[in-house]
Amino acid sequence: MAASETLKIGIIGFGPFGQFLARTMIKQGHTLVATSRSDHSLLCFQLGIPFFKEFSKFFASGSDVILLCTSIVSTSDVLSTIPMRDLQKARLFVDVLSVKEHPRDLLLQVLPEEVDLLCTHPMFGPESGRDGWEGLPLVYDRVRVRNHGLCDKFLDVFHQEGCRMLEMSCEEHDRMTAKTQFLAHTIGRILDQMKIESTSIDTKGFQKLLQVKDSSIKDSLDLYIGLYQHNKFARKEMEKLELAFQAVKGMLMESIINQGSS
Ligand code: NAP
Repeated sequence: MAASETLKIGIIGFGPFGQFLARTMIKQGHTLVATSRSDHSLLCFQLGIPFFKEFSKFFASGSDVILLCTSIVSTSDVLSTIPMRDLQKARLFVDVLSVKEHPRDLLLQVLPEEVDLLCTHPMFGPESGRDGWEGLPLVYDRVRVRNHGLCDKFLDVFHQEGCRMLEMSCEEHDRMTAKTQFLAHTIGRILDQMKIESTSIDTKGFQKLLQVKDSSIKDSLDLYIGLYQHNKFARKEMEKLELAFQAVKGMLMESIINQGSS
């Protein structure tokens, strides 16, 4: 990639997902810096990128794009600690949270007016994207974008890897993921509570359940809690799940009663 096409990207939150994205961005030739609550300086050293504990130094390094990769549940606290006046050169702020209305609303309140805002959700992670991002969905909403060139350059990080680029509103995203991602995580967490395990006679269907359980619990509990607390559509899906469970159980109970009376 020509130097003119590469970006300076500053990552806030260098946990599992921030690290995962960073590896691909480094591979693509972008210039990265990172900051985080915990000390990730050793890993950053190994990756060949600077790690700054203080926001002042992180912002002074002059990134074009700031990428927020912190947990959903900490967003409000994290944003309250960022000295927005120090954003300086950064012209685009991007988040990758797995819920979208919550960060959009908070960021619109705190970002300086001149900074653009792109809300994204890469619908994959270190597990599902381990062997590449080809065909995996990247959802995005150009919430406040005036510099389309810079925004397109950033989106190209995902486009170049073969992601399926899906532009939709934050609300539409949250409505859909409550019915899909949140449901999958909830079923996985329930199966984990049940301590289901593989046997020598597993059916294909059961093996899929084991996969759902395993992939759900690989993500942090904070992530799962965030999917519930900060997606207004998740509560309804939880209620539907409970009702559906009761309905299925009721059907079975009824079948026993009917058998007894016949
Ligand atoms: P996570 O548990 O959701 O977030 C971990 C990150 O949040 C770490 O960088 C951690 O910092 C930071 N953090 C947590 N509490 C904090 C606090 N009180 N103050 C400051 N920083 C705090 O795990 P993750 O998988 O890395 O996800 C990061 C973000 O990416 C989340 O918003 C998630 O929804 C999104 N996302 C994740 C995936 C995935 O597959 N994992 C996919 C798409 C989007 P330290 O490491 O410095 O302690």
